Amino acid sequence: MNKKELDPNFPIFNALQTKGHEQIVMCSDPESGLRAIIAIHDTTLGPALGGTRMWNYENEAAALKDVLRLSRGMTYKAAISGLNLGGGKAVIIGDPHKDKTEMLFRAFGRFVDGLGGRYITAEDVGMEEENMEWVYSETKFVTGIPKSMGGSGNPSPVTAYGVYMGVKACAKKAYGSDSLEGKKIALQGAGNVASTFARHAAKEGAKLFISDIYEEKAKALAEEVNGTLVSPDEIYGLNVDIFTPCALGGVINDDTMGQFKCDIIAGGANNVLDIEDQHGLELMNKGIVYAPDYVINAGGLINVAGELEGYNEERCLQKAGKIYDTILDILNFSEENEIPTHVASNKLAERRIAQVGKTHKIYSSKGHFSGRMGEMYMTDRK
Ligand code: NAD
Repeated sequence: MNKKELDPNFPIFNALQTKGHEQIVMCSDPESGLRAIIAIHDTTLGPALGGTRMWNYENEAAALKDVLRLSRGMTYKAAISGLNLGGGKAVIIGDPHKDKTEMLFRAFGRFVDGLGGRYITAEDVGMEEENMEWVYSETKFVTGIPKSMGGSGNPSPVTAYGVYMGVKACAKKAYGSDSLEGKKIALQGAGNVASTFARHAAKEGAKLFISDIYEEKAKALAEEVNGTLVSPDEIYGLNVDIFTPCALGGVINDDTMGQFKCDIIAGGANNVLDIEDQHGLELMNKGIVYAPDYVINAGGLINVAGELEGYNEERCLQKAGKIYDTILDILNFSEENEIPTHVASNKLAERRIAQVGKTHKIYSSKGHFSGRMGEMYMTDRK
């Protein structure tokens, strides 16, 4: 059916069909005050996995828009990372500082459970460990749970290793060698991902320039890795080889674009391109090698996906190491087709969904998974 033929009284279907979403679930529990939306974008490769975000959205339309956008992003991230997972996301409408109760999260958990494994949730912005424990008490379709509860715990070491390997792949493309020895790297952020990344890069002989809005954090990390402390405003315009954003989104924007003197931008932060198509294209035109954020930082997703198969950190690190090959494939595809790298990665992800999806192994073969994932399927997909 042509999109224009859709009944204008059902704009939600229009929203679903425009970007290929399969399902949205509006979750209402007046007693606890729960108002949440679960979006399942695509389950061709496997169950839809994606975190739950709690946010004080201005209105329902803003929440719907966000969950549709984020769930679609998860489909692409899982597909390009070679995982047998689809894309999903959930948003809980509410103030994370005021509206959290056990009742609310347990009600939400029951909605997740009702989907019988089509959607698997995890922690995202606005959620804390305790909140996830309440969700987990109502459904087993939760991943990324703390080590103390038998889960995989903090994913940032695996994320950081993936970022490190992705940066090396960019160096290979830009310089013909993936060695970081002597390379100058401007590192934005001195948090979880940034600090583990810095240790890997420093071990290989990179020279790091580090900034954080909390100066003492950046200073401590700079001392540890024999790097240089720089101010948050200085970081964009430094005369370096590589810029590695590991703090916030939106840092590649109209203000910063003109400042970059680096050859490579590759880091762990999400949504770094302020206006994706515009700024992705501008980076290509400037000749800067850009590693799409959702590909290079997929170690976190690889880690939580690993938990579903029976967690083994070594295996997750190995899988995250493959980000090197994925990034190189994307950079080559982008060059051959003269398209920005974020467009190249989307196309490669779509190709994998189309090719692998035809087999539909996941829904036809119960024994396909081992560990918790297998158990979920054995017991829930009768
Ligand atoms: P974190 O909170 O540990 O670290 C972020 C750091 O950035 C903090 O130290 C903060 O003070 C600093 N910061 C904030 N604004 C800044 C600015 N303007 N300039 C310099 N520093 C600034 O977070 P993290 O877990 O290390 O995640 C970093 C980024 O990577 C985030 O964008 C996150 O969404 C993304 N990411 C993380 C993971 C993971 O496994 N932790 C996975 C995928 C993506």
